[in-house]
Amino acid sequence: MQKLTSPTGRDIELKPVHPNVGVEAGFRRALLKLLREVHEDISSAVLAAYRVDPPATATDADPQFGTFWSSSAWNLQKIFKAKIAAWQGRLETLPGLMAKAFMGSAAGHANRATMSALKSAGFTVRFQMSPVERDAIQGSINEQVGLIRSLAEKHLSDVQGMVMRSVVAGRDVGGLAEELRTRYDISARRAAFIARDQNNKATATITRARQDEFGLQARWAHSGSGRHPRREHVLADGTVYDPAEGCLIGGKRIWPGQEPNCGCISLSIIPGAGREGRYRGMSEKMRTASLARSRSITRKRAA
Ligand SMILES: [Zn+2]
Repeated sequence: MQKLTSPTGRDIELKPVHPNVGVEAGFRRALLKLLREVHEDISSAVLAAYRVDPPATATDADPQFGTFWSSSAWNLQKIFKAKIAAWQGRLETLPGLMAKAFMGSAAGHANRATMSALKSAGFTVRFQMSPVERDAIQGSINEQVGLIRSLAEKHLSDVQGMVMRSVVAGRDVGGLAEELRTRYDISARRAAFIARDQNNKATATITRARQDEFGLQARWAHSGSGRHPRREHVLADGTVYDPAEGCLIGGKRIWPGQEPNCGCISLSIIPGAGREGRYRGMSEKMRTASLARSRSITRKRAA
């Protein structure tokens, strides 16, 4: 493992590695494709059954059993049972393939961006995957598999709940179709969130692996985007931390991108030659101050 140090003695901050919007869009498209397939499969079956055998309205409900036990309710339950079972089979394998493809492109992008940032700082290096990185990537894939599965499964169960309520309410087929579209939009927003959040997390995981590999220091950078930034993340902007430990925020050690919807990133710093150990044992406040000092010296020298 090669630890990098700045030959000039001054810290070198690398160009930031941002999550790639193209990678996010690709994952979002894949998630929406799956969701649309699930949605069209279940809604076409449900709407067809609903048209053939509409639920009894509240006025002609069976006085003894009510509308819920009508033949249409039974039919619909049977349809859901069959569709859920069929999708369970496909959801055994498909999410794994989707997650691997996404993680491959996210890692590829983050590595290329890091490589180019190192190159413009004058370092030509080779990346090596450590067992720790392999575990981290596998952990991300497992998380994504769970999210993809539950996106599809939750959509099916949400549609089921909604349809059964429609039967009880004696809603007509037009009202049901509209409700189905609303349900789809809710799940589609969830898919977009998963793509964005997982892309932030994947980029952070790879950045952290490279920082670890080359003995780099890290600096928290608030994304500056998002409508509801966390106050503590805005305040943490500029804090230098050890990437192995994480940044101390709100009493916890965390990494950028770890909390849901966190778009913060980690900037990498190549420590000055001969002083690579100087951050060791320093508090974050001291590290940040030390970095700010060396920067103002650099600026003064440059002026
Ligand atoms: Zn954040």
